[in-house]
Amino acid sequence: MHERFRQELLRLLLVVAAVLLLGWLSGAWALALAAGLGGYILWQLRQVYLFEEWLMGVKSNRRALSGTWDLAAERIERIRQRARQRKKRMSRLLHRFHDTLETLPDAALILDRDRRILWFNSAARELLGLDAASRERRLTRVLSGKGLRRWLAEGLPARPLEIERSGPPRRELQLRLLHFGEEQFLLTAHDVTELKRVQQVRRDFIANVSHELRTPLTVVKGYLEILAEDELPPQTKEALRASLRQAQRMEQLVADLLMLSRLEMEEAPPGDEVVEVPRLLDALAQDARRLALTHGDHPLTLRIDRALGVRGSESELTSAFGNLLFNALLHTPAGTPVEVTWEKRDGGARLTVADRGPGIDPEHLERLTERFYRVDKGRSRERGGTGLGLSIVRHVLARHGGRIEIESRPGEGSRFIGLFPAERLVKLDSPSSSSDR
Ligand code: ADP
Repeated sequence: MHERFRQELLRLLLVVAAVLLLGWLSGAWALALAAGLGGYILWQLRQVYLFEEWLMGVKSNRRALSGTWDLAAERIERIRQRARQRKKRMSRLLHRFHDTLETLPDAALILDRDRRILWFNSAARELLGLDAASRERRLTRVLSGKGLRRWLAEGLPARPLEIERSGPPRRELQLRLLHFGEEQFLLTAHDVTELKRVQQVRRDFIANVSHELRTPLTVVKGYLEILAEDELPPQTKEALRASLRQAQRMEQLVADLLMLSRLEMEEAPPGDEVVEVPRLLDALAQDARRLALTHGDHPLTLRIDRALGVRGSESELTSAFGNLLFNALLHTPAGTPVEVTWEKRDGGARLTVADRGPGIDPEHLERLTERFYRVDKGRSRERGGTGLGLSIVRHVLARHGGRIEIESRPGEGSRFIGLFPAERLVKLDSPSSSSDR
Protein backbone atom coordinates (compact mmCIF):
# COMPACT_ATOMS: atom_id res chain seq x y z
CA MET A 1 0.00 0.00 0.00
CA HIS A 2 1.24 3.47 -0.85
CA GLU A 3 2.58 5.43 2.08
CA ARG A 4 0.01 8.28 1.56
CA PHE A 5 -2.87 5.79 1.74
CA ARG A 6 -1.48 4.42 4.99
CA GLN A 7 -1.31 8.02 6.30
CA GLU A 8 -4.98 8.55 5.31
CA LEU A 9 -6.01 5.27 6.97
CA LEU A 10 -4.15 6.25 10.14
CA ARG A 11 -5.95 9.59 10.15
CA LEU A 12 -9.31 7.79 9.88
CA LEU A 13 -8.33 5.37 12.69
CA LEU A 14 -7.41 8.32 14.92
CA VAL A 15 -10.83 9.88 14.27
CA VAL A 16 -12.51 6.55 15.12
CA ALA A 17 -10.39 6.26 18.29
CA ALA A 18 -11.29 9.84 19.28
CA VAL A 19 -14.99 9.13 18.68
CA LEU A 20 -14.77 5.95 20.82
CA LEU A 21 -12.94 7.77 23.62
CA LEU A 22 -15.37 10.72 23.56
CA GLY A 23 -18.39 8.38 23.49
CA TRP A 24 -17.00 6.27 26.37
CA LEU A 25 -16.19 9.33 28.49
CA SER A 26 -19.43 11.20 27.83
CA GLY A 27 -21.86 8.34 27.14
CA ALA A 28 -23.27 10.47 24.29
CA TRP A 29 -22.27 8.08 21.47
CA ALA A 30 -24.33 9.76 18.71
CA LEU A 31 -22.95 13.19 19.50
CA ALA A 32 -19.39 11.87 19.62
CA LEU A 33 -19.87 10.11 16.22
CA ALA A 34 -21.40 13.25 14.62
CA ALA A 35 -18.57 15.43 15.94
CA GLY A 36 -15.88 12.99 14.73
CA LEU A 37 -17.34 12.45 11.25
CA GLY A 38 -18.24 16.15 10.87
CA GLY A 39 -14.67 17.14 11.71
CA TYR A 40 -13.26 14.61 9.27
CA ILE A 41 -15.60 15.71 6.45
CA LEU A 42 -14.81 19.39 7.12
CA TRP A 43 -11.10 18.63 6.96
CA GLN A 44 -11.60 16.73 3.66
CA LEU A 45 -13.65 19.64 2.26
CA ARG A 46 -10.83 22.03 3.06
CA GLN A 47 -8.39 19.70 1.31
CA VAL A 48 -10.67 19.68 -1.79
CA TYR A 49 -10.80 23.48 -1.66
CA LEU A 50 -7.01 23.81 -1.38
CA PHE A 51 -6.51 21.18 -4.07
CA GLU A 52 -8.85 22.98 -6.50
CA GLU A 53 -7.09 26.30 -5.82
CA TRP A 54 -3.71 24.62 -6.38
CA LEU A 55 -4.97 23.18 -9.66
CA MET A 56 -5.96 26.71 -10.71
CA GLY A 57 -2.49 28.04 -9.98
CA VAL A 58 -2.11 28.88 -6.24
CA LYS A 59 1.23 27.19 -5.82
CA SER A 60 1.58 27.80 -2.05
CA ASN A 61 -1.38 25.44 -1.36
CA ARG A 62 0.75 22.50 -2.41
CA ARG A 63 2.41 22.24 1.01
CA ALA A 64 -0.97 22.20 2.83
CA LEU A 65 -2.16 19.09 0.94
CA SER A 66 -1.74 15.77 2.65
CA GLY A 67 -2.69 12.09 2.39
CA THR A 68 -4.41 11.03 -0.84
CA TRP A 69 -4.73 14.68 -1.95
CA ASP A 70 -0.97 15.05 -1.72
CA LEU A 71 -0.62 11.86 -3.74
CA ALA A 72 -3.07 13.10 -6.45
CA ALA A 73 -1.22 16.44 -6.63
CA GLU A 74 2.10 14.65 -6.99
CA ARG A 75 0.77 12.53 -9.87
CA ILE A 76 -0.73 15.57 -11.61
CA GLU A 77 2.55 17.43 -11.23
CA ARG A 78 4.37 14.58 -12.91
CA ILE A 79 1.88 14.54 -15.83
CA ARG A 80 2.16 18.32 -16.16
CA GLN A 81 5.94 18.11 -16.22
CA ARG A 82 5.84 15.48 -18.93
CA ALA A 83 3.42 17.63 -20.96
CA ARG A 84 5.73 20.64 -20.52
CA GLN A 85 8.70 18.61 -21.78
CA ARG A 86 6.68 17.34 -24.73
CA LYS A 87 5.57 20.89 -25.55
CA LYS A 88 9.17 22.07 -25.41
CA ARG A 89 10.21 19.25 -27.73
CA MET A 90 7.35 20.01 -30.12
CA SER A 91 8.17 23.67 -30.11
CA ARG A 92 11.84 22.92 -30.85
CA LEU A 93 10.71 20.62 -33.65
CA LEU A 94 8.36 23.27 -35.01
CA HIS A 95 11.15 25.83 -35.00
CA ARG A 96 13.43 23.43 -36.81
CA PHE A 97 10.65 22.69 -39.31
CA HIS A 98 10.07 26.41 -39.90
CA ASP A 99 13.82 27.04 -40.20
CA THR A 100 14.10 24.22 -42.73
CA LEU A 101 11.20 25.57 -44.78
CA GLU A 102 12.70 29.03 -44.49
CA THR A 103 16.02 27.93 -46.00
CA LEU A 104 14.35 26.07 -48.89
CA PRO A 105 14.79 27.65 -52.31
CA ASP A 106 11.22 26.49 -53.06
CA ALA A 107 8.18 28.41 -51.92
CA ALA A 108 6.45 26.59 -49.03
CA LEU A 109 2.98 27.45 -47.76
CA ILE A 110 0.97 25.90 -44.95
CA LEU A 111 -2.74 25.86 -45.78
CA ASP A 112 -5.77 24.93 -43.72
CA ARG A 113 -8.47 22.62 -45.02
CA ASP A 114 -10.24 25.51 -46.78
CA ARG A 115 -6.93 26.22 -48.53
CA ARG A 116 -6.46 29.42 -46.54
CA ILE A 117 -2.83 30.50 -46.09
CA LEU A 118 -1.65 30.03 -42.48
CA TRP A 119 2.09 30.50 -42.98
CA PHE A 120 4.60 30.90 -45.82
CA ASN A 121 8.40 31.15 -46.15
CA SER A 122 10.49 33.94 -47.66
CA ALA A 123 10.85 32.13 -51.00
CA ALA A 124 7.04 32.34 -51.31
CA ARG A 125 7.29 36.15 -51.11
CA GLU A 126 9.74 36.16 -53.97
CA LEU A 127 8.32 33.40 -56.18
CA LEU A 128 4.59 33.94 -55.62
CA GLY A 129 4.60 37.62 -54.66
CA LEU A 130 2.96 37.00 -51.25
CA ASP A 131 3.06 39.62 -48.48
CA ALA A 132 1.71 40.03 -44.93
CA ALA A 133 -1.78 40.73 -46.30
CA SER A 134 -1.82 37.28 -47.95
CA ARG A 135 -2.08 35.55 -44.58
CA GLU A 136 -5.52 34.12 -43.72
CA ARG A 137 -6.62 34.57 -47.35
CA ARG A 138 -7.65 31.77 -49.64
CA LEU A 139 -4.87 30.57 -51.97
CA THR A 140 -7.02 31.16 -55.08
CA ARG A 141 -7.38 34.83 -54.07
CA VAL A 142 -3.64 35.47 -54.06
CA LEU A 143 -2.50 33.06 -56.76
CA SER A 144 -3.93 32.52 -60.20
CA GLY A 145 -3.01 29.98 -62.84
CA LYS A 146 -4.57 27.85 -65.54
CA GLY A 147 -6.29 24.86 -63.96
CA LEU A 148 -5.41 25.87 -60.38
CA ARG A 149 -9.00 25.78 -59.06
CA ARG A 150 -9.70 22.42 -60.67
CA TRP A 151 -6.41 21.05 -59.35
CA LEU A 152 -7.18 22.18 -55.79
CA ALA A 153 -10.71 20.78 -56.05
CA GLU A 154 -9.18 17.31 -56.52
CA GLY A 155 -8.46 17.29 -52.77
CA LEU A 156 -5.00 15.79 -52.72
CA PRO A 157 -3.87 15.89 -56.37
CA ALA A 158 -1.65 12.99 -57.35
CA ARG A 159 0.17 14.95 -60.03
CA PRO A 160 1.95 18.31 -59.73
CA LEU A 161 0.51 21.34 -61.54
CA GLU A 162 2.51 23.70 -63.68
CA ILE A 163 1.42 27.34 -63.72
CA GLU A 164 2.83 30.51 -65.19
CA ARG A 165 3.37 33.79 -63.36
CA SER A 166 3.43 36.72 -65.71
CA GLY A 167 6.07 38.70 -63.73
CA PRO A 168 8.44 40.43 -64.39
CA PRO A 169 10.31 38.22 -64.26
CA ARG A 170 8.02 35.68 -65.90
CA ARG A 171 8.21 32.37 -64.12
CA GLU A 172 7.02 28.83 -64.62
CA LEU A 173 6.25 27.08 -61.37
CA GLN A 174 5.53 23.50 -60.46
CA LEU A 175 3.09 23.15 -57.57
CA ARG A 176 2.74 20.13 -55.28
CA LEU A 177 0.25 19.65 -52.48
CA LEU A 178 0.93 17.35 -49.52
CA HIS A 179 -1.20 16.42 -46.54
CA PHE A 180 0.47 17.38 -43.31
CA GLY A 181 -0.60 17.33 -39.63
CA GLU A 182 -4.28 17.52 -38.81
CA GLU A 183 -6.29 19.00 -41.66
CA GLN A 184 -3.31 21.01 -42.85
CA PHE A 185 -1.57 21.03 -46.20
CA LEU A 186 1.89 21.90 -47.40
CA LEU A 187 2.01 23.54 -50.80
CA THR A 188 5.39 23.83 -52.48
CA ALA A 189 6.18 25.81 -55.62
CA HIS A 190 9.37 24.92 -57.48
CA ASP A 191 10.77 27.30 -60.09
CA VAL A 192 11.05 25.31 -63.35
CA THR A 193 11.58 28.31 -65.66
CA GLU A 194 15.16 27.37 -66.53
CA LEU A 195 14.32 23.68 -66.97
CA LYS A 196 11.44 24.57 -69.28
CA ARG A 197 13.68 26.91 -71.26
CA VAL A 198 16.28 24.18 -71.75
CA GLN A 199 13.55 21.71 -72.75
CA GLN A 200 12.21 24.24 -75.22
CA VAL A 201 15.70 24.81 -76.69
CA ARG A 202 16.10 21.03 -77.09
CA ARG A 203 12.69 20.70 -78.75
CA ASP A 204 13.32 23.67 -81.06
CA PHE A 205 16.73 22.28 -81.97
CA ILE A 206 15.35 18.85 -82.88
CA ALA A 207 12.42 20.38 -84.78
CA ASN A 208 14.72 22.77 -86.70
CA VAL A 209 17.33 20.13 -87.55
CA SER A 210 14.63 17.71 -88.69
CA HIS A 211 12.97 20.39 -90.74
CA GLU A 212 16.24 21.50 -92.36
CA LEU A 213 17.15 17.89 -93.19
CA ARG A 214 13.87 17.24 -94.94
CA THR A 215 14.47 19.17 -98.17
CA PRO A 216 18.02 17.94 -98.95
CA LEU A 217 16.90 14.41 -98.13
CA THR A 218 13.96 14.60 -100.52
CA VAL A 219 16.30 15.80 -103.28
CA VAL A 220 18.90 13.07 -102.61
CA LYS A 221 16.21 10.40 -102.45
CA GLY A 222 14.60 11.67 -105.66
CA TYR A 223 17.88 11.47 -107.62
CA LEU A 224 18.68 8.06 -106.17
CA GLU A 225 15.26 6.79 -107.26
CA ILE A 226 15.78 8.10 -110.80
CA LEU A 227 19.32 6.70 -111.01
CA ALA A 228 18.25 3.30 -109.67
CA GLU A 229 15.91 2.97 -112.65
CA ASP A 230 18.79 3.36 -115.15
CA GLU A 231 20.64 0.54 -116.83
CA LEU A 232 23.80 0.31 -114.75
CA PRO A 233 26.40 -2.34 -113.89
CA PRO A 234 24.95 -4.64 -111.16
CA GLN A 235 27.49 -3.49 -108.54
CA THR A 236 26.63 0.19 -109.02
CA LYS A 237 22.91 -0.63 -109.05
CA GLU A 238 23.21 -2.50 -105.74
CA ALA A 239 25.15 0.45 -104.24
CA LEU A 240 22.40 2.81 -105.41
CA ARG A 241 19.66 0.59 -103.94
CA ALA A 242 21.49 0.43 -100.57
CA SER A 243 21.84 4.25 -100.58
CA LEU A 244 18.14 4.57 -101.40
CA ARG A 245 17.20 2.28 -98.49
CA GLN A 246 19.29 4.41 -96.11
CA ALA A 247 17.76 7.60 -97.49
CA GLN A 248 14.29 6.15 -96.88
CA ARG A 249 15.26 5.24 -93.34
CA MET A 250 16.51 8.76 -92.73
CA GLU A 251 13.32 10.15 -94.19
CA GLN A 252 11.28 8.03 -91.76
CA LEU A 253 13.51 9.12 -88.89
CA VAL A 254 13.06 12.80 -89.75
CA ALA A 255 9.28 12.30 -90.12
CA ASP A 256 9.10 10.60 -86.69
CA LEU A 257 11.22 13.31 -85.04
CA LEU A 258 9.03 16.03 -86.53
CA MET A 259 5.93 14.18 -85.39
CA LEU A 260 7.32 13.90 -81.83
CA SER A 261 8.23 17.60 -81.75
CA ARG A 262 4.73 18.49 -82.89
CA LEU A 263 3.16 16.22 -80.26
CA GLU A 264 5.26 17.83 -77.55
CA MET A 265 4.72 21.42 -78.61
CA GLU A 266 1.11 21.59 -79.69
CA GLU A 267 -1.93 21.78 -77.46
CA ALA A 268 -3.76 18.47 -76.87
CA PRO A 269 -6.20 17.65 -79.68
CA PRO A 270 -9.65 19.18 -79.10
CA GLY A 271 -12.48 16.84 -78.29
CA ASP A 272 -14.74 17.82 -81.19
CA GLU A 273 -13.29 15.69 -84.02
CA VAL A 274 -14.85 12.24 -84.05
CA VAL A 275 -12.45 9.50 -85.09
CA GLU A 276 -14.10 6.40 -86.54
CA VAL A 277 -11.64 3.94 -85.07
CA PRO A 278 -13.14 0.85 -86.82
CA ARG A 279 -12.61 2.45 -90.25
CA LEU A 280 -9.11 3.53 -89.25
CA LEU A 281 -8.22 -0.01 -88.13
CA ASP A 282 -9.61 -1.49 -91.38
CA ALA A 283 -7.33 0.83 -93.38
CA LEU A 284 -4.31 -0.10 -91.25
CA ALA A 285 -5.09 -3.81 -91.72
CA GLN A 286 -5.03 -3.26 -95.49
CA ASP A 287 -1.63 -1.59 -95.24
CA ALA A 288 -0.48 -4.52 -93.10
CA ARG A 289 -1.47 -6.97 -95.82
CA ARG A 290 0.51 -4.95 -98.31
CA LEU A 291 3.49 -5.05 -95.96
CA ALA A 292 3.16 -8.86 -95.84
CA LEU A 293 4.37 -8.96 -99.44
CA THR A 294 7.81 -7.69 -98.40
CA HIS A 295 8.10 -8.71 -94.74
CA GLY A 296 6.27 -12.04 -94.59
CA ASP A 297 2.63 -12.85 -93.89
CA HIS A 298 0.96 -13.02 -90.45
CA PRO A 299 -2.57 -14.33 -89.83
CA LEU A 300 -4.22 -11.07 -88.73
CA THR A 301 -7.47 -11.10 -86.74
CA LEU A 302 -9.49 -7.96 -86.02
CA ARG A 303 -12.10 -7.92 -83.26
CA ILE A 304 -13.71 -4.54 -83.49
CA ASP A 305 -16.65 -2.95 -81.72
CA ARG A 306 -17.99 -1.12 -84.78
CA ALA A 307 -20.10 1.30 -82.75
CA LEU A 308 -17.10 2.57 -80.79
CA GLY A 309 -15.33 5.79 -81.77
CA VAL A 310 -13.26 8.38 -79.87
CA ARG A 311 -12.94 12.14 -79.93
CA GLY A 312 -9.47 13.26 -80.88
CA SER A 313 -7.05 13.56 -83.77
CA GLU A 314 -7.39 11.05 -86.61
CA SER A 315 -3.85 11.57 -87.88
CA GLU A 316 -2.33 11.08 -84.42
CA LEU A 317 -4.36 7.95 -83.74
CA THR A 318 -3.52 6.52 -87.17
CA SER A 319 0.15 7.00 -86.36
CA ALA A 320 -0.14 5.47 -82.86
CA PHE A 321 -2.24 2.45 -83.84
CA GLY A 322 -0.12 1.97 -86.97
CA ASN A 323 3.05 1.87 -84.88
CA LEU A 324 1.60 -0.79 -82.58
CA LEU A 325 0.33 -2.93 -85.45
CA PHE A 326 3.48 -2.67 -87.57
CA ASN A 327 5.68 -3.40 -84.54
CA ALA A 328 3.70 -6.61 -84.01
CA LEU A 329 4.31 -7.55 -87.65
CA LEU A 330 7.93 -6.45 -87.87
CA HIS A 331 9.28 -7.68 -84.53
CA THR A 332 7.77 -11.20 -84.79
CA PRO A 333 8.61 -14.14 -87.12
CA ALA A 334 6.54 -14.51 -90.31
CA GLY A 335 3.59 -16.85 -89.87
CA THR A 336 2.89 -16.02 -86.20
CA PRO A 337 -0.63 -14.67 -85.59
CA VAL A 338 -1.45 -11.07 -84.61
CA GLU A 339 -4.77 -10.06 -83.05
CA VAL A 340 -6.15 -6.52 -82.82
CA THR A 341 -9.05 -5.88 -80.42
CA TRP A 342 -11.00 -2.63 -80.07
CA GLU A 343 -13.56 -2.76 -77.26
CA LYS A 344 -15.23 -0.99 -74.35
CA ARG A 345 -13.52 -1.79 -71.04
CA ASP A 346 -13.87 -0.48 -67.47
CA GLY A 347 -15.91 2.53 -68.56
CA GLY A 348 -13.34 3.54 -71.21
CA ALA A 349 -12.10 1.97 -74.45
CA ARG A 350 -9.18 -0.36 -75.06
CA LEU A 351 -7.09 -1.21 -78.09
CA THR A 352 -5.05 -4.38 -77.75
CA VAL A 353 -2.45 -5.56 -80.24
CA ALA A 354 -1.39 -9.07 -79.27
CA ASP A 355 1.30 -11.12 -80.96
CA ARG A 356 2.96 -14.50 -80.43
CA GLY A 357 6.44 -13.25 -81.19
CA PRO A 358 9.62 -13.57 -79.13
CA GLY A 359 8.28 -11.32 -76.33
CA ILE A 360 10.33 -8.80 -74.37
CA ASP A 361 12.41 -9.32 -71.21
CA PRO A 362 10.80 -7.62 -68.16
CA GLU A 363 13.94 -5.48 -67.63
CA HIS A 364 13.21 -3.60 -70.88
CA LEU A 365 9.48 -3.00 -70.39
CA GLU A 366 9.75 0.18 -68.32
CA ARG A 367 12.09 1.93 -70.77
CA LEU A 368 10.49 0.72 -73.98
CA THR A 369 8.55 3.94 -74.64
CA GLU A 370 11.65 6.14 -74.28
CA ARG A 371 13.01 7.73 -77.44
CA PHE A 372 15.46 5.52 -79.31
CA TYR A 373 15.18 2.72 -76.75
CA ARG A 374 15.42 -0.57 -78.60
CA VAL A 375 15.85 -4.05 -77.21
CA ASP A 376 18.11 -4.99 -80.10
CA LYS A 377 19.36 -1.91 -81.97
CA GLY A 378 20.81 -3.84 -84.88
CA ARG A 379 17.68 -5.90 -85.56
CA SER A 380 15.39 -2.90 -85.19
CA ARG A 381 17.41 -0.94 -87.78
CA GLU A 382 17.47 -3.94 -90.09
CA ARG A 383 13.69 -3.95 -90.00
CA GLY A 384 13.44 -0.24 -90.75
CA GLY A 385 12.64 0.79 -87.17
CA THR A 386 13.58 4.25 -85.88
CA GLY A 387 13.21 3.55 -82.16
CA LEU A 388 10.68 6.38 -81.90
CA GLY A 389 7.44 4.47 -82.54
CA LEU A 390 6.44 3.64 -78.96
CA SER A 391 7.45 7.11 -77.79
CA ILE A 392 4.98 8.53 -80.35
CA VAL A 393 2.31 6.08 -79.13
CA ARG A 394 2.81 7.17 -75.51
CA HIS A 395 2.55 10.87 -76.39
CA VAL A 396 -0.53 10.40 -78.57
CA LEU A 397 -2.36 8.40 -75.89
CA ALA A 398 -1.45 10.90 -73.16
CA ARG A 399 -2.75 13.73 -75.35
CA HIS A 400 -6.06 11.84 -75.55
CA GLY A 401 -6.21 11.43 -71.77
CA GLY A 402 -5.15 7.78 -72.02
CA ARG A 403 -2.05 5.67 -71.50
CA ILE A 404 -0.12 2.70 -72.83
CA GLU A 405 0.38 -0.59 -71.01
CA ILE A 406 2.73 -3.34 -72.13
CA GLU A 407 2.46 -6.96 -71.10
CA SER A 408 4.99 -9.43 -72.37
CA ARG A 409 6.50 -12.80 -71.62
CA PRO A 410 9.70 -13.87 -73.33
CA GLY A 411 8.98 -16.79 -75.63
CA GLU A 412 5.20 -16.32 -75.52
CA GLY A 413 4.48 -12.94 -77.09
CA SER A 414 3.47 -9.38 -76.22
CA ARG A 415 0.32 -7.34 -75.70
CA PHE A 416 0.44 -3.60 -76.30
CA ILE A 417 -2.65 -1.95 -74.82
CA GLY A 418 -3.88 1.59 -75.48
CA LEU A 419 -6.40 2.85 -72.91
CA PHE A 420 -8.84 5.74 -73.47
CA PRO A 421 -10.94 7.46 -70.79
CA ALA A 422 -14.77 7.39 -70.87
CA GLU A 423 -15.08 11.11 -71.69
CA ARG A 424 -13.38 10.56 -75.07
CA LEU A 425 -15.79 7.82 -76.23
CA VAL A 426 -18.38 8.33 -78.98
CA LYS A 427 -21.12 5.98 -80.10
CA LEU A 428 -20.98 5.51 -83.88
CA ASP A 429 -24.10 4.86 -86.02
CA SER A 430 -22.69 1.66 -87.44
CA PRO A 431 -23.68 -1.97 -87.16
CA SER A 432 -22.52 -3.50 -83.92
CA SER A 433 -19.53 -5.67 -83.16
CA SER A 434 -17.87 -7.76 -85.85
CA SER A 435 -14.86 -9.91 -86.23
CA ASP A 436 -13.05 -10.38 -89.51
CA ARG A 437 -9.76 -11.14 -91.06
P1 ADP B 1 11.19 0.58 -83.46
O1 ADP B 1 11.18 1.60 -84.51
O2 ADP B 1 12.54 0.01 -83.21
O3 ADP B 1 10.12 -0.45 -83.65
P2 ADP B 1 9.62 1.32 -81.19
O4 ADP B 1 9.72 2.47 -80.26
O5 ADP B 1 8.37 1.15 -81.95
O6 ADP B 1 10.87 1.39 -82.15
O7 ADP B 1 9.89 0.01 -80.35
C1 ADP B 1 10.97 -0.03 -79.47
C2 ADP B 1 11.50 -1.44 -79.31
O8 ADP B 1 10.54 -2.24 -78.66
C3 ADP B 1 11.76 -2.14 -80.61
O9 ADP B 1 13.04 -1.85 -81.11
C4 ADP B 1 11.67 -3.60 -80.23
O10 ADP B 1 12.91 -4.02 -79.66
C5 ADP B 1 10.63 -3.58 -79.09
N1 ADP B 1 9.29 -3.99 -79.59
C6 ADP B 1 8.28 -3.19 -79.96
N2 ADP B 1 7.20 -3.90 -80.29
C7 ADP B 1 7.51 -5.19 -80.11
C8 ADP B 1 6.82 -6.44 -80.27
N3 ADP B 1 5.56 -6.48 -80.70
N4 ADP B 1 7.48 -7.58 -79.97
C9 ADP B 1 8.76 -7.56 -79.54
N5 ADP B 1 9.48 -6.42 -79.36
C10 ADP B 1 8.87 -5.27 -79.66
